[in-house]
Amino acid sequence: MPSLTFLGAARTVTGSKYLLETASARVLVDCGLFQGFKELRERNWQPLPVDAKTIDAVVLTHAHLDHCGYLPRLVAEGFTGRIFCTQGTGHLCRIVLPDAGRLQEEDAESANRHGYSRHKPALPLFTEEDANRTLLQLQLIGYDRAVPVAEGLEATFVNAGHLLGSSFVRLSIDGGNSGGLVFGGDLGRYDRPVLPDPAPLAEAGVLLVESTYGDREHSPSDDGESVAGIVNDTIRRGGKLIIPSFAIGRAEEVLYWLRRLEEERRIPVVPVYLDSPMAAKAREQYAMRLDELDPDLREASKKGHAVGRLRAEHGLCAFCTSRFEVVTSSQHSRELVGKKAPAIIVSSSGMATGGRVLNHLRAALPDERNTVLFVGYQAAGTRGRRLLDGEAEVKIHGELVPVRARIASIDSMSAHADAAEILRWLGGLARPPAMTFLVHGEPRAMDALDRTIAARLGWPTIKPEHQQTFDLTPYL
Ligand SMILES: [Zn+2]
Repeated sequence: MPSLTFLGAARTVTGSKYLLETASARVLVDCGLFQGFKELRERNWQPLPVDAKTIDAVVLTHAHLDHCGYLPRLVAEGFTGRIFCTQGTGHLCRIVLPDAGRLQEEDAESANRHGYSRHKPALPLFTEEDANRTLLQLQLIGYDRAVPVAEGLEATFVNAGHLLGSSFVRLSIDGGNSGGLVFGGDLGRYDRPVLPDPAPLAEAGVLLVESTYGDREHSPSDDGESVAGIVNDTIRRGGKLIIPSFAIGRAEEVLYWLRRLEEERRIPVVPVYLDSPMAAKAREQYAMRLDELDPDLREASKKGHAVGRLRAEHGLCAFCTSRFEVVTSSQHSRELVGKKAPAIIVSSSGMATGGRVLNHLRAALPDERNTVLFVGYQAAGTRGRRLLDGEAEVKIHGELVPVRARIASIDSMSAHADAAEILRWLGGLARPPAMTFLVHGEPRAMDALDRTIAARLGWPTIKPEHQQTFDLTPYL
């Protein structure tokens, strides 16, 4: 004691869950869903090696589902403790968790209707009601202040610059002065608009750091040049630009760039639609919390078109253009699908695996005047990846759709630090951690980061296996 067990994100990028056990407390840091390949998703159905009823508290780094999406299941299994997170994370959880529950129920229902599940009947992993009960257990706290989360454990949330409300968390055990146990969460990027730089890492006795892009460097920022090029090219051809976007996080950055390019007259004024109810709600949260975002953005919002009465309204103009419209009703969305006039449509889901963007793609793909622009990671096996790989037709809603539209992608909007940025963040430490655990990465990326840390910093590291437990006594 204390000990740490890796219940997810060990040699993979999803399912983040770390169980910390001390003499007096049992706390879970992050409680994420496994996503992607089937053998990973099946882990969501395996019982946790710890009784949910015996967990004292959960500490959450941010609101992406691979970090928070298992919470409703934990609650359904009897977890009644508090879930500590920042305000931004809490507000985004209120948007994403009930939606995830609804999707789980719809998937189970459709599996039963069409009989394609080997489980009879197919059940949801959790329900919308489980998600709503989970929200009652959220305990929202501010950045940069130590708060007790369980007996002998204090947590401090520090801005990680990866998503609104995102944080890395320092847990100090029994007031020890070892630098504590720092859970890096997902690390954001430096010198980007919308989100702030990751805050410096002051000290860490034991550190967990992500390695998603441990083997890569993102292409340098081109100051919106490629987005401008794609918009101009599409509008000149009289086409529509469809941008599949993750509902929370990416949509705001896309809207920021469209606004800025329009303001700098680098693209023409055309109608811009945000067609995703979840993204619209997330955008409001971003607008209300500008203080936690990049300082440039506060400046941008002051120059907005609709400098408004309300602070939130004021903030919203950081994420809008002259002819901007939020599409809420599904009828409005259907009308928009039918329109042929040049326009930009931002809609989810980001990897074109579901959601309203599918209706837009089905209508837009057969026309060579249109463009589909991907702005996020496209996982293997998704429709987004197939389009990027140049397939001549894709199946949407059971129908084969020919692909004649231009397919484009830009990777400079990634929300994860690359290898150089991770190193920059680690380099802020005055004294190395006694142990650094590499997590949240595919083996190749993790091995590459491991070699870089060894060569550049000479720190001891461990690459934990799924469900492996470590005694932390020697390090804290
Ligand atoms: Zn994340």
